[in-house]
Amino acid sequence: MAEILNLNQLAAKSLAGELLDRQTAIAVLQSSDETLLDLLAAAYRVRRHYWGNRVRLHFLLNAQSGLCPEDCNYCSQSKISSAEIEKYPLMAQEKILQAADRAAELKAGTFCFVISGRTPSEKVFNQVLEAVATVKDKHDLKICACLGLLSESQTHRLAAAGVDRVNHNLNTSENYHSNICSTHTFSDRVNTLKNVQAAGITTCSGGILGMGESDDDIANLAYSLRQLNVTSVPLNFLIPIPGTPLGDTNYLNPRQCLRILSLFRLILPSQEIRIAGGREVHLRSLQPLGLYAANSIFIGDYLTTAGQAAKMDLQMIEDAGFVLENSDGSILNK
Ligand code: SF4
Repeated sequence: MAEILNLNQLAAKSLAGELLDRQTAIAVLQSSDETLLDLLAAAYRVRRHYWGNRVRLHFLLNAQSGLCPEDCNYCSQSKISSAEIEKYPLMAQEKILQAADRAAELKAGTFCFVISGRTPSEKVFNQVLEAVATVKDKHDLKICACLGLLSESQTHRLAAAGVDRVNHNLNTSENYHSNICSTHTFSDRVNTLKNVQAAGITTCSGGILGMGESDDDIANLAYSLRQLNVTSVPLNFLIPIPGTPLGDTNYLNPRQCLRILSLFRLILPSQEIRIAGGREVHLRSLQPLGLYAANSIFIGDYLTTAGQAAKMDLQMIEDAGFVLENSDGSILNK
């Protein structure tokens, strides 16, 4: 398959705004290890055009954990998971503010505020709005809220409260979605993203790779995200958590993760692409290479699993010759 790839031409097409056809997308995913650095160089050409050598940092807070009535197979917080995780209702405002302090200290530009659940109750929603105001009052952090399925009236209220972005991942392709969740549909997720956009808030939406989906599904996820014109794309590599239905799933290796990141960069040239959960577990020693396709990472921990020490992330970025940027695109002074 790799032989049909002209990687220079691919980068040029991507930069010209042309959509990679399906056959080429599959060929990228199935390309050989020998062509991996050439593929990354093509992805880097596109990344450099839009993002230079800049890396954005996001800080994640799991502000409400577990106790979720949904059945997402990958998630340790779902009703069908027996994973031993901490479960708690929405954190007190004081704890949320402490986490925002930590985000600012780590030079994160965006504070990603996540709560478990299908959709927030009115009580929790109001507390979230209050927390947004408290954090915004103290810090110059962008706020990205991940609150589950949202109606149009909820997204308008978030906009009025100053939420900068809403995260709601498509997770996988439309075809594969029913294999990983039965309590809501792919269309439910798309509708939430449309409600967010209708309220004038930018969207953050990506997926989880390594759940048994086909290469076709991976390409379809990228095509759907492009069609929806999302602003930011977090790509998670499945961390198989014991006690979840996908607890012993392992389809990934570091080179395949790099091919996936490169494909998303070529299909979503100007979008912010983030290496999200699973970076340390699946890219391992090849983590810095991921920055040649992606331009953002999470610093600190993930939802229910720990990330590597922030100091190591900052060192990795510096060692690779990349620089940190603020969420407005300016370079962050050390
Ligand atoms: S991913 Fe979200 S909606 Fe699905 S089970 Fe986990 S917390 Fe619930």
